[in-house]
Amino acid sequence: TSYEVTCSYVDSVVGQGVVVCFQDISLLEKAEIMRRDFVANVSHELRTPLTALLGFIETLRGPARNDEAARDRFLEIMANEGGRMERLVKDLLSLSQVEGDARMRPTERVEMFGLIQSVRNALTPLARDARVQVNLRCDQDEVFVQGDPDQLRQVLTNLVENAIKYGGAGEVDITLSGPAEMENLRGPGISLTVTDHGPGIDELHLPRLTERFYRVDSHRSREMGGTGLGLAIVKHIVNRHRGRMRIASTLGEGTSIRIILPAA
Ligand code: ADP
Repeated sequence: TSYEVTCSYVDSVVGQGVVVCFQDISLLEKAEIMRRDFVANVSHELRTPLTALLGFIETLRGPARNDEAARDRFLEIMANEGGRMERLVKDLLSLSQVEGDARMRPTERVEMFGLIQSVRNALTPLARDARVQVNLRCDQDEVFVQGDPDQLRQVLTNLVENAIKYGGAGEVDITLSGPAEMENLRGPGISLTVTDHGPGIDELHLPRLTERFYRVDSHRSREMGGTGLGLAIVKHIVNRHRGRMRIASTLGEGTSIRIILPAA
């Protein structure tokens, strides 16, 4: 690690002393490198579908102008690429919004069991297509947290969607429990776990999974419509709620993501 120290000398008046300011800019430099990486990643992620769109527009204007079958096929690909850009922009906006809200702890009382049921219903078509059964277990009728309902819905959607997309055909289990004393939490908390029984993730990837645009298998993520931002958004929302997140995975057995949130 290199540290650069800038030093500003403030004029002294004889007999009244000298003020010297030292500023450690290594953190600023790191933030600047991260910002540049982020912009490069976003540009790359947007450019890929954009290039495809422009290419197909050219083909439709030229060689494929009178080929009806090709036109339908190309329009379908173009709609997919457009959808990919739309998802990316939506996720980028969500990420920037949660980052902006980071200091303000949400204040609403949110009932989690009902929220999970509603997310499960919304994901029924995706689960059906992937031949996945989503089970929900909860030891109470109502479980309250202090939070932001839209952001908590997004956390649940991202986790369950990933379990369905990457877990393969079979079952996904959602378990909700609490309120109870939880490790690493000051007051009582609630626990939410989403488990799949898919191929699992090699442990070398686990520490980086919540980084923006980090994917274990880029090709598969793109094929599944992933933006690479889902878990980064989850991490930021959980942090804003003063909660904790733990990812556990075993190759060949599956993946389990546990979120702990302060109870309301
Ligand atoms: P994406 O939009 O690509 O799904 P995420 O941030 O949600 O991005 O997830 C990051 C990566 O973590 C994914 O690309 C995938 O490789 C891996 N991943 C996430 N959830 C699971 C899971 N349940 N099983 C296996 N791999 C997963």
